[in-house]
Amino acid sequence: MAGITAAVESAELGREVYLVEKTPSLGGRVAGMKHYFPKLCPPYCGLEINYRRIKENPKITVLTSSEVEKIEGNSGDYNVTVKVGPRFIKEDVLDPVTPFANLEATIPNSFNYNLDKKRAVGVPHEQAFPYSPVVDQAALDDPEIRSQVENLPGVDLSQEPKEMNLKVGSIIWTTGWVPYDASKIEYLNYDKYPDVITNVEMERLAAVNGPTAGKLVRLSDGREAKRVAFIQCAGSRDDNHLPYCSAVCCMASLKQSTYVREAFEDSEVWIFYIDIRANKYESFYRKIQDDEKVHFIKGKAGSVELDQASGDLVVTGEDVDTDSIAKVQVDLVVLATGMVPETRDHKVPYDGLTYDEFGFLVADPEKAAIYPAGCVKRPVDVATTVQDATGTSCKAIRN
Ligand code: SF4
Repeated sequence: MAGITAAVESAELGREVYLVEKTPSLGGRVAGMKHYFPKLCPPYCGLEINYRRIKENPKITVLTSSEVEKIEGNSGDYNVTVKVGPRFIKEDVLDPVTPFANLEATIPNSFNYNLDKKRAVGVPHEQAFPYSPVVDQAALDDPEIRSQVENLPGVDLSQEPKEMNLKVGSIIWTTGWVPYDASKIEYLNYDKYPDVITNVEMERLAAVNGPTAGKLVRLSDGREAKRVAFIQCAGSRDDNHLPYCSAVCCMASLKQSTYVREAFEDSEVWIFYIDIRANKYESFYRKIQDDEKVHFIKGKAGSVELDQASGDLVVTGEDVDTDSIAKVQVDLVVLATGMVPETRDHKVPYDGLTYDEFGFLVADPEKAAIYPAGCVKRPVDVATTVQDATGTSCKAIRN
């Protein structure tokens, strides 16, 4: 969302823009949400408008399946080397769906956080922009699937990556974030039990275009997930994991509690929290508090275990308010995992930039006209990302 916004805003102010995206389609993590703040609308409300602005603006060149490999030069005069990956689809294929509709080979569906599978060749997901097919890298990595795919009419595995050299005055870096690896929080047993999921997986589970067509079910046995526990600060505000607050995961859980409550009248939700960070959405928080079927337990969840007899999960944690131990038996546990900046592990390929101790990119226009925007700078929600990207584009166009 940060990259799209910055690109559109800069181009509409008259600048030539290259929008470089690593995956085969735009939209980033926002595209995978069921709803987002402030209006709780599906992400395509906002994305479709931006896609139209991109399509209508000849000043924007979109490069998908592409990565920035090298940046040389100085403010106002950069040479950027971009590797543009092939889609492995012949150029004369005009119908993006039919030629691949009968392909049986499937691969893990990364758009759904691998909760289901998808065809090995096709449009990445139904709302993808551009709406163009691609041979997924996972298909190429599996020799058996590769052999099924390579003889398909329309597929050309001989295509090679191309190198492009772009001359630009400034760069807005918007590579975003990755969810904290929940398997590292061993006591929450994310790897052990399929019904322990993360908040980003919950977005896909609840989305109508997700792996269960929006039905909230236990992944272990397909039973309706009517009793759900949310565990806040899962790996955040913890010196053993992420010491900082990720700012958005409280609101994500409050929002997701409405997914559960709206799905089943007889549903019930428990939220284990240290503090609730509602930011500018205090009234939404109060509305959730008014629901007597949503229980707030102030205290850290200490364990998630399986009740063998029922297949339910049992969450145990302290309840600071009552000075007791809380124990709840639920169908699904959602971990409110935090944000790790993509730049923690994948730095901008340009020497001399500044990162904070957690890997967030720090703006330093004295050194370089390479500006971070959105979650690569600090954890923020979608609305703040849009504001930040708009402001950043105003700075960037001065170079
Ligand atoms: Fe914890 Fe809430 Fe901050 Fe996320 S936003 S780290 S859940 S306090």
